This record gives sequence, structure tokens and C-alpha cells, in this order.
Amino acid sequence: MNKKALIIIDYTYDFVADVGALTCGEPGKAIEKKIVQLTSEFIDNGDYVVFAIDVHDEGDTYHPETKLFPQHNIRGTLGRDLFGDLQSVYDENKERENVYYIDKTRYSAFAGTDLEIKLRERGITELHLVGVCTDICVLHTAVDAYNKGFSIVVHKDAVASFNQKGHEWALGHFEQSLGALVK
Ligand code: ZN
Repeated sequence: MNKKALIIIDYTYDFVADVGALTCGEPGKAIEKKIVQLTSEFIDNGDYVVFAIDVHDEGDTYHPETKLFPQHNIRGTLGRDLFGDLQSVYDENKERENVYYIDKTRYSAFAGTDLEIKLRERGITELHLVGVCTDICVLHTAVDAYNKGFSIVVHKDAVASFNQKGHEWALGHFEQSLGALVK
């Protein structure tokens, strides 16, 4: 059987809460239960679970996103906390050896992180993706995973975006161009 990992992308207050700086709003909130359920399932099953969470520094003039989006997920702010019950699931399990938290600074969870090394060490070949935004950080992570030869599963009830058209387009792209199982 393929060894698998769950990658939870950017499911934080800034991306999900009504008052979040770059929020997906209702579609983001609607996937909370599914994300929490999958996270608990993978953790209890002993599978590798990675929280890949955007971080920015206040007023970073060099970051390419500065021109594109309002400031979000600033280091040390509440906006970076995991949304809803996901934070307590993380807090309760963060000492487990199969739970890992990565600060990422680009859309893809692979960009500038040790994610690939961690996955290869463990012989993991199948990545399950959940979180936000479907057509930005989930997409870019999926594209990198594809190029690196991982099999991809995207849980469609556990991804969301502030752009509904982008969300739907990305679901098609995962399946038709990246060979992902979208379920
Ligand atoms: Zn960002």
C-alpha cells in the first residue's frame, strides 16, 4: 500500500474567518468539519500529517505577494492561528512524531521548505491535499507534487477559495492535468 500524508494548507483565521485579512468566507468555513475529521483520522491512523502554513513579515517590501494581496498571516498575529477546531486538534497532537508544522512563505508548500525531504525520508508517495485556497496555494502545491512524482488526492469537500470560478477550474485541473484523484 502507498504510504500517504495529509497536507493541510493555510487553514487559518486570515484565510477563513469573516474578519480574516484575505478570507474565503462561507466556502472556507463550510469545510472546517471535513478538515478536522480528515486530520484526526490521519493522525490516529499513524499517517504523516503536515500543517503547511503561510507566514509573512509585517511590511516586507521584497515579498512578491505584497503587490498582489492585502497583508495576511503576519508572524505572531492571531490571523495565523488555525481556524476553528483545527487549532485544538493540532495543539492536542503536536508532540506526536507523525505531526509536523511548516512555515511556508510562498504558495507551494514545497517552496523553500523541507517538506520534500520529510516525505522522502518516510517513503511517502501519496499526498492528500486539503485547505485553502483551492486555486492558489493548494494548486501550486499540487503542481509541485506532480512534478516531483507524487500521487495526489484532493478532497473536494475540504478545499475552498474566495474565487468560486477559480475553485471549480482548479478541481478540473487537478484531475485532468495532474492525474489527481478528486474525491
Ligand atoms: Zn501569503
